[in-house]
Order: sequence, then structure tokens, then C-alpha cells
Amino acid sequence: MAGDPRYDILFEPVQIGPVTAPNRFYQVPHCTGMGFHRPNTVAAMRETKAEGGWGVVCTEYCSIHASSDDSPLPTASLWDDKDIRSHAKMVDNVHKHGALAGVELWYGGSSTPNLYSREESMGPRSTPSWMSHPVQSRTMDKQDIRNLRRWQVNAAKRAKTAGFDIVYVYATHGYLLADFLHPSNQRSDEYGGSLENRARLTREMLEETREAVGDTCAVAIRFSADDGEFDEGPRNEENRAVVEMLAELPDLWDVNARNYDIEIGSSRFVKEGALEQYVRWVKQVTTRPVVSTGRFTAPDTMVRQVREGVMDLVGAARPSIADPFLPRKLREGRIDDIRECIGCNICSAGDRIGVPIRCTQNPAMGEEWRRGWHPEWIEPNASERSVLVVGGGPAGLEAARALGQRGYPVTLAEATTSLGGRVSRECALPTLAEWGRVSEWRVTQINKLPNVEIFLDSQLDAEQILEFGADRVVLATGAKWRRTGIGRSHDSPIPGSEAKHVFSAEDVMDGMRPTGRVVVFDDDNYYLGAVVASALTAAGAKVTIVTPVAAVAGWSYNTDEQILTQKRLMREGVKIETHTILSAIGEKSVELSCVYTGDTREIPADHVVMVTSREPNDALHHELAERIDITRVGDCSAPGIIAAAVMAGHRYARTMDVPEKDVPFLRDDPEVD
Ligand code: ADP
Ligand code: SF4
Repeated sequence: MAGDPRYDILFEPVQIGPVTAPNRFYQVPHCTGMGFHRPNTVAAMRETKAEGGWGVVCTEYCSIHASSDDSPLPTASLWDDKDIRSHAKMVDNVHKHGALAGVELWYGGSSTPNLYSREESMGPRSTPSWMSHPVQSRTMDKQDIRNLRRWQVNAAKRAKTAGFDIVYVYATHGYLLADFLHPSNQRSDEYGGSLENRARLTREMLEETREAVGDTCAVAIRFSADDGEFDEGPRNEENRAVVEMLAELPDLWDVNARNYDIEIGSSRFVKEGALEQYVRWVKQVTTRPVVSTGRFTAPDTMVRQVREGVMDLVGAARPSIADPFLPRKLREGRIDDIRECIGCNICSAGDRIGVPIRCTQNPAMGEEWRRGWHPEWIEPNASERSVLVVGGGPAGLEAARALGQRGYPVTLAEATTSLGGRVSRECALPTLAEWGRVSEWRVTQINKLPNVEIFLDSQLDAEQILEFGADRVVLATGAKWRRTGIGRSHDSPIPGSEAKHVFSAEDVMDGMRPTGRVVVFDDDNYYLGAVVASALTAAGAKVTIVTPVAAVAGWSYNTDEQILTQKRLMREGVKIETHTILSAIGEKSVELSCVYTGDTREIPADHVVMVTSREPNDALHHELAERIDITRVGDCSAPGIIAAAVMAGHRYARTMDVPEKDVPFLRDDPEVD
């Protein structure tokens, strides 16, 4: 099938200095949590993007010297010639499919604690590292600056040897060059003070990188076109002057907004194409091609931004993670096959935690090399064994879809009258609407498979499952939020939790809206407690959210949502009690305890909502496990995030009729194979 000619513009080649991108789909540099520790994993993952039609595929941030070490966050490196080989493997894989390969050379500066290398970090002046590590950088002297320039040039030459087509100078995100550019850089030498002085190092790095590799490689700059004030729109300040000053020096401007919460904003806070207002002026200042991002999954938005001159290349990290084959599907006119990113930021959480990337929508992400999973292709069925999937949430839907893709005869029974399970329930809550894409995509795909039958309104019991007589049964019956308060802080029910005025998150998803003074006890620490608090506030309740940790929705720091969540709750008038647990429930009050001292106090409360932990719905498993071939997948086995449920369903399907190994994946090694 041919693609819609409306989208032809997206498949035009774009000249970038000495190289030509085959189309406008540009996978901007993005973290993978793999870094130099896992070169085979990276190379296979990047290859799928090129195979899927991305015209340019870039690395993650790639350190140019051991004094730029972000451990425990994994980065790529080009510290010496030994690093060339692993990059060459990635480049070769990308070139095989006709795409260009880009490398984001990076020097962290004062931001990096250098916990692995134990080198001193350096900056325009001595400042503390990020993440509260008790270290400060040293103020760079002239020799340090000369060294840095040499390291950039050496790394660029190594990048060229590895075969890269695009080499970056990285001048944003608070790293070294951004620090030099910042007005706080008031060094008394020629690298501080006036804007011209502050931009000097960036200019030198661009010029010297070009001199070193510019005959065959394009030189790109990554830069923030705007500070990016969240609520107030563009705040350009000096950024425009910098672009004017350096306009024609690079071959490509890769632009974003300085505020990372906007650039990588989750769909709960930032919508598709949100960078447009911050970056659209850049093309008026330079004749060089411009790439920018915006979690683009709608081709009409991409086309409009290209036609209106916002950008020349459609940049993407997350859309290329959720669907490495997005460009190819568009070209082939298969728009409804595109697995749209839901904007949950579980992908970037991997890097934050220091583990390889994973994706809610694309369970093959990060598994290309170690498990041999391809995001589009799956081994055909090895038998004609029939499968009954019980439950149509993310785990059940993904198991049914992937088993169906393999060719097995599949029946899916869902107790309620709609599919989606927890995502359908959660996406009706404030801010979570886009999460519905998890079930939408799977249902669309299943509907194309003649060998998968769906029965709604079909709550199965053990006898019915036995009677059905499938060769194998997949139990994907999910889990329910507990009303007892059992969770991390309590291993038995909270006294008073059996009272009628105590609710669970499930009740709120069912549409209940307790009023008056409501205490939400959030012992889960991710997004749901805060979302429930917002839903109740919107319905008129006066909400206090109680959490044992230091910041509300603490884990969502990893998904770049914590600050925005806390800000939203504060703006909504929700009272936040941190380092506190709910310890007892009375009729018109609750008892709170300090997690440090155990001191208690009472606050008035008409209702309580528990968001603490979930009870797996696994009774059918215990009834049937010794009688038939039955396997639990997803939340009914081990309640977790949506990505884990999708992964569990997918893994079941991939491994059906395949002998399980004790270690079911390869372990990567810095030495490439
Ligand atoms: P997961 O995240 O593991 O997919 P969910 O809770 O999202 O779990 O989905 C579980 C689904 O299973 C829900 O849609 C629920 O209605 C359905 N379900 C639960 N018990 C049964 C049953 N006995 N028969 C059929 N469907 C069931
Ligand atoms: Fe998008 Fe979530 Fe996948 Fe990241 S993890 S690419 S945000 S769906």
C-alpha cells in the first residue's frame, strides 16, 4: 500500500552540510541507560530505528573525556581509540539501512559528579554537582580550556573513524557549554562576562570540530532556543542573540527549550508539538536546517510544522522508541499500525535509574539484542495449540495480540463490556487520557487477526475455563487496589480501615467522589495518589495527601513528573503531608504518625482514600494450577506498572513453545562480539 501523498514532504531528502539525510525523520540523541557498558545492546536497538525508516539515528550523550562521567547514569564514551570499535558497530548497523548516524559529543562540566572516574569535574567556576552529591567542580584555567578543546577534537576524529556522519557540539541542558553561555558566567578572562565572551568556547568548539571532521561529517549544535517558562510561554532572553552570532557556523541546529520539564514533558503536563512556540523563530535567523522535537506521532502536525517553516527535520526520541517503524508505516499507508507513544516517560526513567531503556508501548525496546526481539517481526507458531486468555487489560491484550500474530488460535474473554482493563479505568482520571493508546493500538491490531476471537461481558470461573478446554490458559485478570491500607508502611490493615467512609483508588476509578475533608494516603509513591487527589479536588473535596516519603509522588522524579505534580497539587490547594503515615482512622478524624519519631497527631477527616498497594486477582490460578496448563501474567501475577504488564503478556507470547532458560537473555559486554 502506498502512503498518502500529503505526507510526501516528510520523505524528501535534506542536505546537512556534506551529508544528505534520506528523509526528514530524525531520531535525536536520546539516553538508553545502556551506554558504553552495553554496546551490542545499543547497536541492535539503533539499527531497528534505521530499519524502520528513520533517516538519521543518533547516539545518546557521548562523553569526550573521563572527567565527564555521569555514573551511575550510563553514557556512551569516546575517551580513547578503544571506544571506536563499539561505535563502528552501531554506525554500520545504521548505514546498512541507508540512514545517517550522528554522535552527540558531550562534556558535562560542573553537573557531573565523576563517581566512576574519580576525576575532578570542571566548569567556568566552581559549583556543586547535580543530584546533591557532595562534590564541586574546579574552575577551569586556560590550560583546562585548551585541554577541553583538544578532547572535543580528538573525540570528533574518533567519531569520524567510527563512520559517523553527524558530529555534535552540545551546548544546552545545563552542561558545560551551557554553563559558559549562561549570564552567571562572569569570569574575568575572555571566556566570561559579555555575551561574546561567554559564547567564545562554543564558537571555538564548532570551528575546531568542523576543521577536524567537517570535510565528511556535518557539525550539529544542540541548543536551547528558549528558557521555556512553563506557565508563561516563551522567554527568549539572550538565546536569540546566540543563534544570530553563531547562525551559519554549524551545519544543523538541533533546538529545544532549556526547561527539561517541557522538552520531555509527560503527556500529563505537555501536549504534542509543545516546543513550537519556543523554537519557531530559529529558522528565520539561520539558513542552516533545523531539527526540533515535540513527541510527534500525528503526521499532520509534522507536515504542518515543516510547511510552516518551524523545522526542516522532524526530531523524535520517544515516538521512535514507542515505534521504531513509524516512518515506514507512514510511507506504506499503514497509519493505524503506528504504535503511538503515550508520553509516560518510563523510557527515560530507565536512564535515571541506571538500567537499560524500556517502553510501555514497545516491549521489544532494549530487548533487540539480548532476547533477539524485533519490534515488528515475531517467530511463527510452533504448534496449533489453542490458547484461552482470561482478562483484556494490557497484559491480556498484548498476549492475545502477539500470540495471534504468531498464528496461534486465541480466545480472549473479558469480564466487563470493554477492553483495556486498568488503562481504560485510569485514563478516565484527570491527565491520563493518552494512556488509552495502550489498549487502542492493541485492539486495532487484534481486530485484524482472524485467529483471535474476543468475548466481552464474559466473567469466567474455574469450571467454565475447564469446560472451554483450551490447550493453554493465560490468566491476565489484574489486581485491585486495597482498601485496608496494607502496603510499604503497613503489613496489616490500618485500624478503622473497615469503616464505610474508607475508599480505595478503585472506588474513585468507579466514579465515587467522597466529599468534605478527604485524606488520601499515598503509600504507592508514583502517579495515582496525586491523580486521585486532583480528581477529588476537582469534585469539590478539601484534600490532604499523606505520604511517608520526602516529596509527593516521589518515584515520578524518574519520569520527570515530580516537580510538576507537586506544583499542580499546591496550585489546586491540596495540603501535602510528607514523612508521615496514616496510622489509624476514626469517625471524623484520622491519626497521622511521623516516620522518624513515631509522634502522632490527629487531623479532621470525613473520608479516607487508600492508594497503598494492590491485591492480585489470582484466585483462579490457585484453583487450577495443578489441574491444567495455566500461567499468570501481568498484575494478577506481580502488580506493577503498565509497561511490566505489557512486557509480561508479550513475553508469554514470544516464549510459547520455546524452552525457558534460567537466564532468558544474553548479557552484554563492553567488548563487542
Ligand atoms: P493487567 O494490567 O495485568 O493487564 P488489568 O487489571 O488491567 O491487568 O486487567 C485485568 C482484566 O481482566 C480486567 O479488564 C478485568 O475485567 C478482567 N478480568 C478479571 N477477572 C476476570 C475473569 N474471571 N474473567 C474474565 N475477565 C476477567
Ligand atoms: Fe512513549 Fe512511554 Fe514508550 Fe517512552 S515509555 S516512548 S513515553 S510510550
